[in-house]
Amino acid sequence: MAKGKINVSVENIFPLIKKFLYSDQEIFLRELISNATDATLKLKHLSNIGEFKEGFGNPIIEVKIDKKNSKIHIIDQGVGMTETEVKKYINEVAFSGAEEFIEKYKDTAKDSGIIGHFGLGFYSAFMVSDSVEIITKSYKKSSPSVHWSCDGSPEFSLSKSDKKTRGTEIILNVSKDSKSFLEESTISGLLKKYNRFMPIPIKFGTKEITNNVGEGDKAKEVKEEIDNIINITEPAWTKKPKDLKEGDYKSFYKDLYPMNFEDPLFNIHLNVDYPFNLTGILYFPKITNDINLQKDKIQLYQNQVFVTDNVEGIVPEFLTLLRGVIDSPDIPLNVSRSYLQVDSAVKKISNYITRKVADKLNSLFKKDRKKFEEKWNDIKVIIEYGMLSEDKFFEKSDSFSLYPSTENNYYTYEELIKKIKKDHTDKDGKTIILYASNIEEQDSYIKHANKKGYTVLLLDSPIVSHLIQKLESSKENISFARVDSDAIEQLIKKDDKTISKLSDKEQEKLKSQLEEVIPKEKYTIQLESMDSDSLPFIITQPEFMRRMKDMQNTGGNNMFGNMPEMYNLVVNTNNKLVTDIFNTKTKNKRYRLIKQSLDLAKLSQNLLKGEDLTEFIKRSYDLIK
Ligand code: ADP
Ligand code: MG
Repeated sequence: MAKGKINVSVENIFPLIKKFLYSDQEIFLRELISNATDATLKLKHLSNIGEFKEGFGNPIIEVKIDKKNSKIHIIDQGVGMTETEVKKYINEVAFSGAEEFIEKYKDTAKDSGIIGHFGLGFYSAFMVSDSVEIITKSYKKSSPSVHWSCDGSPEFSLSKSDKKTRGTEIILNVSKDSKSFLEESTISGLLKKYNRFMPIPIKFGTKEITNNVGEGDKAKEVKEEIDNIINITEPAWTKKPKDLKEGDYKSFYKDLYPMNFEDPLFNIHLNVDYPFNLTGILYFPKITNDINLQKDKIQLYQNQVFVTDNVEGIVPEFLTLLRGVIDSPDIPLNVSRSYLQVDSAVKKISNYITRKVADKLNSLFKKDRKKFEEKWNDIKVIIEYGMLSEDKFFEKSDSFSLYPSTENNYYTYEELIKKIKKDHTDKDGKTIILYASNIEEQDSYIKHANKKGYTVLLLDSPIVSHLIQKLESSKENISFARVDSDAIEQLIKKDDKTISKLSDKEQEKLKSQLEEVIPKEKYTIQLESMDSDSLPFIITQPEFMRRMKDMQNTGGNNMFGNMPEMYNLVVNTNNKLVTDIFNTKTKNKRYRLIKQSLDLAKLSQNLLKGEDLTEFIKRSYDLIK
């Protein structure tokens, strides 16, 4: 038996490894299975090029727990290692890698995200082990098998082994602190997390089933092993789009998120090999109201090994609401997240994904507009979020972003402008886009606008006020106004003024009559000469003020402080009720009419509550008695 010293200058490297990596101990299994997979794939390659002639067969990787002896075995049928290779790869190279790691991350090892992505490799086995053994036999003919073992000091021993079959067996003598890794449920959980889509079959969870064979007293017990392959070796994203059907994408979605019972709306297959390598499938899920409740996330893989489900920085923020997988060997994982954002390769990846998503949306829209319109409600939040946050996406979105009307017609921006330009353009040449945020609550305003021949959009997603702001600043000569933000005649001002039935003097008198009853601190009275069949009293909240408020509520800056609830009360001086009020000589009766009209206006804005509502009901009964 040979003894030797592992080539390392840091004497106490093992305690360091254990300490630094404690929180991410579990990655040892991922690393060892990655090595076993690499070794098997190497053999496959050698077989393909004719250097290995015995036939590749159907090699598997086996994970076994030996609870009694506190051991975990990881066995592969890959290339194996000769004695020289063990010395070279295990004793020299890996350690210098580990040393470098410790040196580099002395201070920052605690930063989440770094550890585990680094790929400490083989030596991560020591995080959970008192000692580690390698029993290996190279695929090279007549090379003897080797038994390497190391107890966590820089000393290793190397001896002959009687292993007859090709491949490598790693044996972990699990330490007391890490006993939980001897539980079947722990290991199967880890295999499912990290190795579910790896390319070589992984066998684990051998169950012993006792069968009674034969009859009578002489029943014989036969133990039968049930093989449990835990992984899907050819996940959908590794295949070509042309080889996949709609159903394949859906069933892969179910493999990815077994707890999710809703089908995705559609998918985007990513596939690029220049200037970087990336494959993957992204899914548009049905977004529920609470965006924050999103549990299923995009998973990041490197060569089918799960790395993380934190794709921040790699995928543009608005697309983190999507689901699916991204697999790329080109994403640097051994660097901090803040660095990722400035890394130009990562920036390219992020741009590529954005472009692919925009292209897909565009083609879906072109291919089947009806279907796209039906899905619009479920995808609009992501699209609007993207329009707001990514300029490139904003530019592209013009061709598929939709603006639905309250009558359920869907327009692209261009179509919308074409349709409304003539009617909606005011005397200053500006095209006013009318919108509602709630059909039920704003019904009377919508009806009134429709009656005048105007089109009203329904824009009801939570970030729409931000989007409107963005559209106003990037499109020419338009502005948005919510239907209830003023009298329609004021929102779209035309030249042809309706003449007021009341003279200026009379108007002044009317105003003071109204002010005797209507609280000044709440309502700004605004007399307008509108059509006689327009409503007498209309409560509005100025567009600008309301929008700023909305934006504050959905995460804008707080530059307006806490604005008080102020409303405009638009009074139509041409409506008969208003002239009646003006002509009512009895003070009490006039007061009552004003109060009743105000309350009705409040009612239509959903503002009549509490004491005012009680009083209103009482007054209404009195009026019809
Ligand atoms: P990496 O996998 O990044 O090369 P590791 O520390 O995980 O680093 O492994 C070091 C080297 O040890 C590998 O490159 C490989 O040559 C060898 N090795 C590790 N595990 C196996 C295995 N199961 N079969 C064959 N060779 C292995
Ligand atoms: Mg490795």
